[in-house]
Amino acid sequence: MRQRLACLAILLAAATVAGAQEQDFSKVEIKTTQLGPNLYLLQGGAGGNITASVGADGVLLVDNQFAPLADKIRAALKGLGADKPVRYVINTHYHYDHTDGNLTFAQAGATLFAQDNLRTRLSTGGTAGNGGSITREIKPVEPGALPQVTFDQVLTVHLNGEDVRAVHYPNAHTDGDSIVYFPQANAVAMGDIYVRYGFPFIDINAGGTVQGMIAACEDVLRLVHPDVKIVPGHGELSNVEELRTYLKMLQDTSAAVAGALKAGKTLAQMKQERILGAWSERYSPPKAFVDTDAFTETLYNSLRTTHTARHGGPRRPVK
Ligand SMILES: [Zn+2]
Repeated sequence: MRQRLACLAILLAAATVAGAQEQDFSKVEIKTTQLGPNLYLLQGGAGGNITASVGADGVLLVDNQFAPLADKIRAALKGLGADKPVRYVINTHYHYDHTDGNLTFAQAGATLFAQDNLRTRLSTGGTAGNGGSITREIKPVEPGALPQVTFDQVLTVHLNGEDVRAVHYPNAHTDGDSIVYFPQANAVAMGDIYVRYGFPFIDINAGGTVQGMIAACEDVLRLVHPDVKIVPGHGELSNVEELRTYLKMLQDTSAAVAGALKAGKTLAQMKQERILGAWSERYSPPKAFVDTDAFTETLYNSLRTTHTARHGGPRRPVK
């Protein structure tokens, strides 16, 4: 059996901590929060948040956590009125704390959807990391866990009175991210482009960049209603005001590192001078997964690399 740790965040942090332990999934409880008439947030354990559309047309999940939690997720869905197996799954990105349930849900009949690059990442595996101190090997998944349907830019699934729209944002948390909009319920699931555990992990090794994270957050803020319910990849349900603060943090810290790069400073100097300033206190709590040094590395690696890939850019409204 493959070793499973609490979540990619903790797994990666464990690289520096001796005696990392497997999470005891038997103790995990799935908490549900209603977001709209047919839409729910499912949370539990240390995996990524799940957004679920539950109604007469069946169940659609955005992300699916760890495989050992699948039965608990199914029980929670039943409690919300689901009477059939999960019909559709959309993956926001390839990290296994969001996709590990793919195989079990697919075997039970679900169709898996994802952006093209995500499928490639799942099939090849690789070394996730920030290009610096945070790295971890990710194994390729079994063929049955791969999305059967992939898309380049936008996918729309019509069910339960909702036009569920997955939109690809290039080179953000990874190179295969999607943000999923639920226009009728006035909600959006952002995957790990928006997290609430502190400075975000950006998988530079898998094509992530802070520029793409910023472009994606700006686009969401441009497209959504002011009272939209925002589901982050990890952490509690959020809103526009909190997302704006997070975006400002990404912009300010990026600007600090870009300025230091321009001034010819080395990464070591940037760390020593703690150039991320006051944002560190707020976004790098004690024992942070991505502490100030790790986030400085992330920004440094992101900003000094010349990416040929597309970044953000204007999009047509999707709501
Ligand atoms: Zn992730």
